[in-house]
Amino acid sequence: MENKFYQDLEVLPGILKDTLDLSLGYLNGLDGRKTAVHPTTIDWPSIPDAGLGAQQAARVFEEKFLPFIVASSGPRYWGYVTGGTTPAAIAGDWLATVFDQNTQSTISSAGDCSALLELQTVKLLLDLFGLPDDFIGGFVTGATMSNFSGLAVARQWYGKQLGIDIAREGLRRDLTIYAATPHSSSIKALAMLGIGSKNVLLVPCLPDREAMDMDALEAMLPEDEDEPFIIIASGGTVNSVDFDDMQRLKAIRSKRKCWLHIDAAFGGFAACSPAFSHLLQGWEVADSITIDFHKWLNVPYDSAIILTRKEHAQLQVQTFQNAAAPYLGDPLEKFSYLNFGPENSRRFRALPAWFSLMAYGKEGYRWLVEEDIRLARSLGEKLVNTGYFSLLAPVRLNTVCFTIADQHHDKVKNADLLAELNKEGKVFMTPTVYKGHHGIRAALVNYRTSDKDLHIAVEAMVTALKKLMQS
Ligand SMILES: *Cc1c(COP(=O)(O)O)cnc(C)c1O
Repeated sequence: MENKFYQDLEVLPGILKDTLDLSLGYLNGLDGRKTAVHPTTIDWPSIPDAGLGAQQAARVFEEKFLPFIVASSGPRYWGYVTGGTTPAAIAGDWLATVFDQNTQSTISSAGDCSALLELQTVKLLLDLFGLPDDFIGGFVTGATMSNFSGLAVARQWYGKQLGIDIAREGLRRDLTIYAATPHSSSIKALAMLGIGSKNVLLVPCLPDREAMDMDALEAMLPEDEDEPFIIIASGGTVNSVDFDDMQRLKAIRSKRKCWLHIDAAFGGFAACSPAFSHLLQGWEVADSITIDFHKWLNVPYDSAIILTRKEHAQLQVQTFQNAAAPYLGDPLEKFSYLNFGPENSRRFRALPAWFSLMAYGKEGYRWLVEEDIRLARSLGEKLVNTGYFSLLAPVRLNTVCFTIADQHHDKVKNADLLAELNKEGKVFMTPTVYKGHHGIRAALVNYRTSDKDLHIAVEAMVTALKKLMQS
């Protein structure tokens, strides 16, 4: 029989064994794998007439592509905000693929409990963060889609205040939105939502901070008490992980017609530690909260959650209802993710998170958060102590924003240093601009990172800088 599908099914144990070996090869080699690779050419094969079978396909992948895979889940990949993959999350992710559920509806097929497990995952998360059980959680691809989803319901709420069902009728007027240091993805979400990114009224920050100047915000609010508005607050900015004042935001929300959206993509994890949870106190009244899972939760990519208040369920359904499927019943009575989020079909996205939350629990995540913060502070000190670098911002949480120190700055640019470091591939960081100053940013959110990695990275930075200064 020449059917490659059936042939592969017969050798499935071998295929999975090969996959296991390949996985272990990668994971065990993470420490030594390069954090940046520059493939000059990748020799892409064309689609074969007769298929190769999975094992041979894997060999082609291994030969042609694997050498160029960077250690983005490794301990010294500090660019963007890149989490690792916990052992439990890897297991959950593998199984999400094996089970291949379309996690949308608790009624879609007999015995479909994947949506129930997702609802339970939301509870685990609320408990981890000490948030009340007032939220619906929806699983989306990343914080960009969380921001999109939260702001989509905010838009519907806004329309309701004006007597317009925006989901049906479309936008009829400009909306008023306040933010101080919104993440670029919120701006993108406003563009996608037809709200228009120019409609954000930028609130000044406190001096030398990325946090909102709350007095300035209060002075900017509409005089007409009936005029609704949306606030996009930061629960951890990406440069200096600064937090808007949640207590004062809470007070505004209680007095005014205000939708409070908090982007706490990774800063939300401060709630795992008693030493840092005060930064978020007050966030429990938010209308929507963005949390990324593929950052500090350390699950593989394609994982984030949008929390929205249960009291807004109807607005959420108006926004996302898959209206042409009435056979699914009343969406408010028969819960289905189909009517609560932007996607219709999607994978069993919560499973890796569920595995990881159950495997490491509150103590595990508290350790992870506190350890990364300790390491970030230590990295900041080490960099300053070399005499070659200075901090652009104090290390508030788990990111380090720094630059080559003044006396060396005219000789070497930060971008040149990053390029030189990428040739070596021992540590990866991204360029940034903080308060108008060009710099470099390291974000520590991986459970694998240790003091040894700080040592390797700082040594690589000093070596690269000296080399550039001599040339
Ligand atoms: C990373 C991040 C985002 C965007 O997240 P994606 O997962 O890349 O979609 C949004 N907001 C903040 C604060 C972030 O750190």
